[in-house]
Amino acid sequence: MPFVETVGPLMARRPAPPPAASDAAVARFGALPAPSLQWNAEVERATAHLYARIKNVVPAVEWPFFAPYVQAINALKKERNAVILAHNYQTPEIYNCVADFTGDSLQLAREATKVDADVIVQCGVHFMAETAKILNPDKTVLIPDRKAGCSLAEAITGEDVRRLRERFPGVPVVTYVNTSAEVKAESDITCTSSNALQVVESLGAERVIFLPDEYLAKYVASQSKVKIIAWKGHCEVHERFTADELALIRSSDPSIQIIAHPECPPEVLAEADFTGSTAHMIDWVRRRRPKRVVMVTECSMADNVQAELPDVEFVRPCNLCPHMKRITLPKILDSLLHMKEEVVVDPATAEKARRAVERMIYLKS
Ligand code: SF4
Repeated sequence: MPFVETVGPLMARRPAPPPAASDAAVARFGALPAPSLQWNAEVERATAHLYARIKNVVPAVEWPFFAPYVQAINALKKERNAVILAHNYQTPEIYNCVADFTGDSLQLAREATKVDADVIVQCGVHFMAETAKILNPDKTVLIPDRKAGCSLAEAITGEDVRRLRERFPGVPVVTYVNTSAEVKAESDITCTSSNALQVVESLGAERVIFLPDEYLAKYVASQSKVKIIAWKGHCEVHERFTADELALIRSSDPSIQIIAHPECPPEVLAEADFTGSTAHMIDWVRRRRPKRVVMVTECSMADNVQAELPDVEFVRPCNLCPHMKRITLPKILDSLLHMKEEVVVDPATAEKARRAVERMIYLKS
């Protein structure tokens, strides 16, 4: 039997306001004039190869709105010597048409260590932009909307971690990357849903404090002999899926494949044919090419995989992340024009957090 002891607040926390943005970047780089956003034959010709990537999931009638932004953003990236990192939950026009690197949190964290650019624009949520900054202290990191938060990151503070260490002295702390820099700084090592089991087992400990996702902690405990002390944090997107809705989908088509993210509740994972991180889910669909599949995760990911694999039918019990959806093409353009919102992490906190993140990145697979 897996051992999991859950501690932590039973009450939902009030979302913490993100740290204030800095105006320093615009002072260093200067603002640029707004480009033309007219749709015309030249824009249509210049962006046709990009529309071809998403034509399965974005109707032709919408492209005249997106294309001028896509063209302007790609030109500005060159002017600013900037790269765009986009999470798997970004919408298809961002993920496929302006991003330089795409992936899950682990892939983006790894890419962030290799980036050769002055500016990183993080198309994801605030903790991801903080991770990019922690790994690139000398680069300018921007997030197009600093209110793009995360219910998991808001579920725990650095003070909570210090108290847990007092309550469980000597027990190592593994922290999911979906946390603030302050929480990472109090941790021994970070993990993602791709490598959580590997990270927990790498410590050689009998017991581990695993923060802050209770359901991911339970999933790891179900795969490991390590005893897990969990926290009562949840992803507001994945906790909404239910076993009943999946059972209903399966009863309508017994041959359908159901693949789920480990941030879902255990009874939802029990209905799944496969459980894995967003990167592992994408890889599973690429390799297995099921006829019909349900991806039990944020809705945009199915669009992004559908764009690549038009022969697979995706059944969508659609839950959108309201934080990820704050990132839009107009905001990315504004971000590059006016160098906002710059993400700033206190250098002492960043140094401690970097140790925890780098320990994960350089873990031998
Ligand atoms: S999908 Fe869940 S874990 Fe991911 S950013 Fe949104 S709230 Fe956070």
